[in-house]
Amino acid sequence: MHSTISTDICIIGAGPVGLFAVFEAGLLKLRCHVVDALPQVGGQLSEIYPKKPIYDIPGFPEVLAGDLVQNLMRQIEPFHPTFTLGERVEKFEKLEDGSFSLLTTDGTDIRCKAIAIAGGLGSFEPRKPAIDELDRFEGGKGVYYMVRDPETFRDQRLVIAGGGDSALDWTIFLANVAKEVTLVHRGTTFRGAADSAEKVKALHDAGRVNLVLSSNVTHVHGNGHLEAVTITANDGTARSLEVDSFIPLFGLTPKLGPIGEWGLEIEDDAVKVNTLDYSTSVPGVYAIGDINTYPGKLKLILCGFHEAALMAQGAYKHIFPDKRYVLKYTTVNGVPTL
Ligand code: FAD
Repeated sequence: MHSTISTDICIIGAGPVGLFAVFEAGLLKLRCHVVDALPQVGGQLSEIYPKKPIYDIPGFPEVLAGDLVQNLMRQIEPFHPTFTLGERVEKFEKLEDGSFSLLTTDGTDIRCKAIAIAGGLGSFEPRKPAIDELDRFEGGKGVYYMVRDPETFRDQRLVIAGGGDSALDWTIFLANVAKEVTLVHRGTTFRGAADSAEKVKALHDAGRVNLVLSSNVTHVHGNGHLEAVTITANDGTARSLEVDSFIPLFGLTPKLGPIGEWGLEIEDDAVKVNTLDYSTSVPGVYAIGDINTYPGKLKLILCGFHEAALMAQGAYKHIFPDKRYVLKYTTVNGVPTL
């Protein structure tokens, strides 16, 4: 059954800027619902560089990207934001009373009074391997490009393909969930963390993971649902393997995606905003962080945080045009809960 969620501000994108926007909106007692196409929060920080240190966050001489995301989640906890993860916002429409309805890929309907697009570089789309008829088994029929819920694969026979961190990490995790896990990698060495590669080799030595190196998955077979894959070695020899699911994990690339089709003014693949409050060409819709553009724009987390603060003020005025807001510091206000 499709769910309907009601909130004050719907934030599209759970990257650092979308998360901090929850804090700034929370100070104004505005409730937020955050949607992200990825199954986890953190945007680029979680998806691209979780272990990289960041040196330009005020007050943190050095912080790992993954730790910054965790801190942001702690910081917004008092405001009880709600999340829809693993679903992309496809479209929105303005309702007669001036509020908005947003629809996700999975049919979740979010009703809100203002929208903050914090979509970064756009939504991350999986890099799909060039295998004929792969799309026949998408949509829950045996081919998955990301792991949203590991329980989907309980007691299944799985083939995972890839040589990066995602392929290694999920092989390790799913070895405890699935009946049989086979990791197929085109090379002999892994791009992912050495420690994870060691763990996968140890699981292989213990007979808990099948490791097929110097090979690719080249064909998928099944009648309605995936039933088998063909694995072809670099020397040309091929064999068939019966499977319930195939998970190719070759990374994700960001694409502006549906945001570009929402009738907003776009320049260079980014949403044009008014720096007064980061409003877009549609009243009640704001754009903050990497997704927006204006003269002098810097694609930095620091700048996105500033934009989130001004956006929240703008959204407050949009939602309550007759109320006057007097800025108070958090030391005076404390961090109020909703
Ligand atoms: P993002 O982090 O890109 O998050 C946007 C989120 O929106 C994504 O999770 C995406 O899935 C989601 N989304 C998009 N469209 C939709 C949709 N239609 N429906 C649902 N969800 C959607 N910046 C610094 O300040 N300091 C650094 O040291 C630094 N180092 C970096 C190193 C690397 C390797 C890279 C790639 C970037 C670095 N940056 C750094 C830049 C920084 O990561 C970005 O400025 C920051 O991530 C922007 O945050 P954001 O919240 O705007 O967007």
